[in-house]
Amino acid sequence: MQEGGSRPVALRWRLVEEEERCGQGELFPERGVLDRHVGTGEYRGLEFLHVRAKRVINRVPASSRMPFRWTINPYRGCSHACTYCFARPSHEWLGLGMGEDFERRIVVKVNAVERTRAELASRRWAGEPIAMGTNTDPYQRAEGKYRLTRGIVEALAEAANPFSILTKSTLILGDLERLAEASRRTAVRVNLSIGTLDEGVWRETEPGTPHPCQRLAAVRRINEAGIPCGVLLAPVIPGLSDRPEQLEEVVTGCVEAGAVSISPILLHLRPGVREHYLAWLAGAHPELLAAYQAAYGGRAYLPSRDQAALTGLVGRLERSARRRAWPSGGP
Ligand code: SF4
Repeated sequence: MQEGGSRPVALRWRLVEEEERCGQGELFPERGVLDRHVGTGEYRGLEFLHVRAKRVINRVPASSRMPFRWTINPYRGCSHACTYCFARPSHEWLGLGMGEDFERRIVVKVNAVERTRAELASRRWAGEPIAMGTNTDPYQRAEGKYRLTRGIVEALAEAANPFSILTKSTLILGDLERLAEASRRTAVRVNLSIGTLDEGVWRETEPGTPHPCQRLAAVRRINEAGIPCGVLLAPVIPGLSDRPEQLEEVVTGCVEAGAVSISPILLHLRPGVREHYLAWLAGAHPELLAAYQAAYGGRAYLPSRDQAALTGLVGRLERSARRRAWPSGGP
């Protein structure tokens, strides 16, 4: 089964109090890293670290602003390699790096499907909605090899347990039939994350993701299959993807693809991510660095009035795009 070398990998599994505080405590494995697989062929450049998780349905801390209480994340690290990714610091909690390690050394919870089935069957489980794609992308490249998200979707469907998925990947289309079947049994919601249609910005900020036009096509197909699919227009990146004409292009594309909702979110830069992103920005767009330092200072979020202005603008663009698409008042 081993594809590559056998260099031992020591992860700091049991010394990560931050993970418990941030709701990631499910990652404590039973016996540490089982195997290290070096990707070949279409997975060349990736390394997969197999672990057995003690539990996979993970409670979100009460203090979180997230609109869901339970999550499942079968992978840690993400080959989509977005420069701004909020999840990068979680790799450091494991003793790995938040740069290239995060993008290439993917932790795989090989027992995620069996754990999901067991936890859903537990008498203590109350059948609450579960969100996927909240930490790393459930349809990143590793899914093509391990199919853990597919197995979890099947388990959730069998249990008629409501769930949602957020992804940047068209790999989700391989599960369209399963998702449609699940949505006949329970509430299923999908969101594609599409922050920009600007080719240059996409290439430099999300180098491992499918082209955003392919993601728009996926939005259309998912909705046509009867599964409500919206778009998270995120992140909107100051100085790179926030010009009104750029936003209008995305909003128009979303409306034409049948997105049931369009939710814009400004870039946020939590500690750790901020340093990583600003180091990238200093190399790629040094002309923007001073403006970022002035706007964000030491904060993770821009002022709430900036988010409110963005939400207002995208709402106006969406209403006008829907009027253009359905002048006599369609969907
Ligand atoms: S797809 Fe999501 S989880 Fe993956 S690198 Fe990009 S922002 Fe991070």
